[in-house]
Amino acid sequence: MMICDAHSDALLKRTAEPDTPPDITLERLLKNGVSLQTLALFCGREPSVQAATTLTERMLHVFRRLKREEGWQQLTDPAEARAGDVQFLLSLEGAEVLTPGLHMADEYHALGVRMASLTWNHENAFASPNGAADGLKPFGLKMVRRMQALHIAIDISHLNDAGVDDILRSTDVPPLASHSACRALTPHTRNLHDGHLKALFAAGGFAGVVFCPAFLGEGEVTIDRVIDHIDHMMAEGGEGKVGFGSDFDGIRKKVEGLESPAGYPALLARLAERGYRPDQIESLAGRAFIDYFARIARY
Ligand SMILES: [Zn+2]
Repeated sequence: MMICDAHSDALLKRTAEPDTPPDITLERLLKNGVSLQTLALFCGREPSVQAATTLTERMLHVFRRLKREEGWQQLTDPAEARAGDVQFLLSLEGAEVLTPGLHMADEYHALGVRMASLTWNHENAFASPNGAADGLKPFGLKMVRRMQALHIAIDISHLNDAGVDDILRSTDVPPLASHSACRALTPHTRNLHDGHLKALFAAGGFAGVVFCPAFLGEGEVTIDRVIDHIDHMMAEGGEGKVGFGSDFDGIRKKVEGLESPAGYPALLARLAERGYRPDQIESLAGRAFIDYFARIARY
């Protein structure tokens, strides 16, 4: 059994708050069966290309130090994930650092980035974030096509509905939603509505269920509520195309019992109690994420 996590802010946490205990540690990942941990390069809370570039360089510096001093291993092809070992995959959250031109996609690909969102929560040169009305900008669609040609997965988690429509309608390679939940269960513009879930899965995409309570429900959110969102995605065609996108180290409030990677065994056990078969649990835990990358590699 391999666990893959499609989204975390472990590098941001260790860059911006080095003195706060992180959710994600190598020891915790190893102990709880995580084989592939995605590390987002976050473009920052300000819509500034310069600030995004500076922050990303600081996070890459921290990652190089973790590799050198703590033995963190980088992987660039999810097919290389191995049970009993932990490897780290880079992604981009927000694409401000790509603003100088299409060649920036090549530069980040060379650094090992294999997933990228176009926006975080503010408008930029490519698109508008969740809640906004306008679709992709022409440069945004060009950047999507360039990244797809490089086999960088397009992450729609923070994108607005019109932007998601544009990607699903105008491009052939299925995108993924690295850390999202279901709008039918929790009405939030960060969540995917049923039409997008159906279209995403029908196209061969992937969705990682986020462990951020605000997107999952009201009040105290439990592991059962996380599984309610998984159930709903499965009902919308997500069999073999749903996994986890924790957002660990990027969220302060946590799901009860799922506060860090130490909560995975309880989540997997509860999936079994809720009637999921062993092969379905293996898929949800990580196989679906790996299979998604194999699908987009064929384009
Ligand atoms: Zn996010």
